[in-house]
Amino acid sequence: MKDTYLHKGLRRKLVDQLHHKGIHDERVLKAMMDVPRHFFLDAAFDRWAYEDKAFPIGHEQTISQPFTVAYMTQLLDVQPRQKVLEVGTGSGYQAAVLARMGARVFTIERQEALYREAKARLEALGYRVRCFYRDGYKGLPEFAPFERILVTAGAREMPEALKQQLAIRGVMVIPVGETSQAMHRLTRISKTEFEDEISGRFKFVPFLGGLEASD
Ligand code: SAH
Repeated sequence: MKDTYLHKGLRRKLVDQLHHKGIHDERVLKAMMDVPRHFFLDAAFDRWAYEDKAFPIGHEQTISQPFTVAYMTQLLDVQPRQKVLEVGTGSGYQAAVLARMGARVFTIERQEALYREAKARLEALGYRVRCFYRDGYKGLPEFAPFERILVTAGAREMPEALKQQLAIRGVMVIPVGETSQAMHRLTRISKTEFEDEISGRFKFVPFLGGLEASD
């Protein structure tokens, strides 16, 4: 696959749209300008990669809408060198955006085929992201604490294991709800205290427990 002037032009337009829709963090806009989203979709959908829409990536999953990626990344307020855990690798696009912002990214996917594809794709494109085939509900205790945690599937409730893997002053962004989700931004104040700020309504594919084989 190539990243042509046409793709770059479409990407510029998309980033301008995101700016108009309220994304003001320059670092987020720059990372989304830099990461070629069409590399994360099947070649047949090349032309759709720069529409502000979610898109199927197979296995009943979707790559999140660009606005959602931008919105969550902005809320996460990630700084270079921070250790970031993403739950729900999917296509790997969100992980690539975080890596592009200088984060040390760990990402978990519960569907083996998606995990394999995303891992191979991220490696081929040169993004340094550590991919894991696991149940994201449990996080990655051996690498905790994380300064940032981003959950990219809709959770029914706040997963306790993930809260406990947050560093003090760390931030978790997670959509919580059944049919639609409210975006939560949880900050860990101390070992036992958390501050929860809620914004915006979204529709995510559900966060599922266990590994795919155990459904
Ligand atoms: N961040 C992705 C989009 C994610 S869609 C991207 O940039 O393309 C949500 C993903 O979460 C799906 O791939 C789904 O398989 C995964 N998922 C759902 N429940 C999970 C769990 N318990 N652990 C890990 N991944 C999970």
